[in-house]
Amino acid sequence: MRKLVADCIYPITSEPIFNGMLVLSDTGVVLSVLKEDEWDRNELGIEYFAGSLCPGFVNAHCHLELSHLRGHVAKSRGLVSFIKQVQSLRNGFELEVILDAMQRADKMMYDAGIVAVGDVVNSAVSRAVKLTSSIYYHSFVELFGFLPERAQAIFDVGVEVGQALSPLSYSMTAHAPYSVSEELFNLINNGLNGIDGLLSIHNQETAQENLFFQNREGDFLNLYDFFGIDVSFFKASGKSSLQTYLPYLSSSTKLLLVHNTFTSNEDISFAERAFDQLFWALCPKANLYIENRLPDIDLLRASKVKLVLGTDSLASNGTLSIWDEIVAIRNAYAHVPLSELLCWATLNGADFLGLSNRLGSFDGGKQPGVVCIQWDERCVKRII
Ligand SMILES: [Zn+2]
Repeated sequence: MRKLVADCIYPITSEPIFNGMLVLSDTGVVLSVLKEDEWDRNELGIEYFAGSLCPGFVNAHCHLELSHLRGHVAKSRGLVSFIKQVQSLRNGFELEVILDAMQRADKMMYDAGIVAVGDVVNSAVSRAVKLTSSIYYHSFVELFGFLPERAQAIFDVGVEVGQALSPLSYSMTAHAPYSVSEELFNLINNGLNGIDGLLSIHNQETAQENLFFQNREGDFLNLYDFFGIDVSFFKASGKSSLQTYLPYLSSSTKLLLVHNTFTSNEDISFAERAFDQLFWALCPKANLYIENRLPDIDLLRASKVKLVLGTDSLASNGTLSIWDEIVAIRNAYAHVPLSELLCWATLNGADFLGLSNRLGSFDGGKQPGVVCIQWDERCVKRII
């Protein structure tokens, strides 16, 4: 048995407890959380921590495969430039370099107290790292293809990638509204597999995305030219990107919208009305890296949506640390209570990945991992 005492304990599903004790089995299963007057300082074997304890973090959005691009992509040039840079750079490395970078990224996440990851993949190259990791991974096999006639062939390749990831958990997913045709959306929607038909999509990461769907103009036309894709068939819907593509997906899909940097109040209402199990991911450090702008987090909070946190990849972030994402949010939104941020970072992410029966809070019987937020809140340390 382990008895952990700290200045504050965040059970997540109940109020923070000051000077409490977290009692765990030797294997890290939560036995109880005791208030200050429910334990005795003379007990033997108490471990004291200066700071706060919270459950292990869930990174809801990552791309382990891009870890070797750390420091290679120029900052603040906007999403279209970012995509061009990543596509030009990503294949110019030896397999050994890519594998080594993924291994180190996995360790970085482990050390930062991350216990589960929703990881976007374009191949099965991350399989070996994930199989030997102590972190739980759900892989989203990401499909790209804006040309309708290519939809079936792209989907078939995705199915092969998914099979190659076995026995890891995976599901098919769509990259972004501007890179997936209606036909490919339909195939993904009809063929959802994995836990609860999980789907994760990059959503409204740039103002250019809405501009393309509303008026068929802006930087994306330039991106299609760059990739040699003829989009003469495409007609503007006159609506935002979100309001254009969400109707392609069935309302029972467990859906994660990632980024939401340019999502309006109307978009939030539209999406919340349409889906029963909807989650919104914030990846603030990646947003600052690529577009130098954050989503309207107060608007999302006021709408009472379910928020989760992600790091995105090392191509657009110097670290893979959910605590660092929390710090980035607090720098701009200092009024958001830490207990609320920790709920996004733990329980909500576990809920999205279908893991809330064992991760995300200090409820008895769970085995959620334990993170210590140091007393000065500058960094975190994994305890279990
Ligand atoms: Zn991403």
